[in-house]
Amino acid sequence: MELVAAEGLAVLVHGGAGKIDRAEWDVRLEGVTRAAESAWMLLRKKADALTAAIEAVRILEDDPVFNAGTGSALNREGFAELDAAVMDGGSLSFGGVAAVRDVRNPVMLAREVMYSEHVLLVGEGASRFARERGIPACDPRELITERQLARWMEARRHKKSGKTGTVGAVALDARGGLAAATSTGGMLDKRVGRVGDAPLPGAGTYAAAGLGAASATGHGEYFARTLAAYRAVAALYELTPDEAVKKSLDAVAGLGGSGGLIMIDAEGRLAWEHTSPQMSVAWRTGSGGGARMTNEE
Ligand code: ASP
Repeated sequence: MELVAAEGLAVLVHGGAGKIDRAEWDVRLEGVTRAAESAWMLLRKKADALTAAIEAVRILEDDPVFNAGTGSALNREGFAELDAAVMDGGSLSFGGVAAVRDVRNPVMLAREVMYSEHVLLVGEGASRFARERGIPACDPRELITERQLARWMEARRHKKSGKTGTVGAVALDARGGLAAATSTGGMLDKRVGRVGDAPLPGAGTYAAAGLGAASATGHGEYFARTLAAYRAVAALYELTPDEAVKKSLDAVAGLGGSGGLIMIDAEGRLAWEHTSPQMSVAWRTGSGGGARMTNEE
């Protein structure tokens, strides 16, 4: 699915790929729409693409419906371990955090990492860095919702894993700046210490000036092995955004993985695609906005 932003500025948000119950569609679509609108307001006030993408992701981390921040999927021991990343296409600056247990908004911590001398901080070290930067610790239990606890108990009983509801955003600002941000609790019932694609540069999150920005969702191991976000952005040298996201998801499918990708290019063309049954997306451009859940029109 491809759209063109009329006057440059644009934001595109996803609320995760997977098999999403019909009963949850509306609340998820409302969530991604609210996030896209807030990011859009910032872009209209001349905020840069990075600020807008982070704002959209922060809002969805706070929304318990999504698998990011509060409401994250729980790992094998019943904790939320969060991954997040941000990337600024102009400077190719990247900041990621992984397996963090006590930060309510890991995307804000990823932003701090981006401004540090490092690219990726994990676990206890990431938590300590958060305190250094004035990001308060939260009680890990505050990140756990009833819904995720029920899913976790079900997964433990039936030896199932899964995911749905990782969040991400890509944005283009008035100066042509491109940025991407992604945040997730990762796969349900994952091993303690498991890191997915979201916080790895080029896997779940990537942006490059003059080309595009991408954020992924899906079975992270496959997105990491194919460098899905980078693959989609690099494909813009020769393909349209629509073709580029499809090509990248084909590579993921070639290894047996499924999920979705959102992308915006330097001309303001928005594209998204998913090989999972559903993926919630919402967008906002100068010519209006919208939201979708399935590939069907
Ligand atoms: N990509 C995420 C991960 O593997 C999960 C998801 O997108 O739902 O950690």
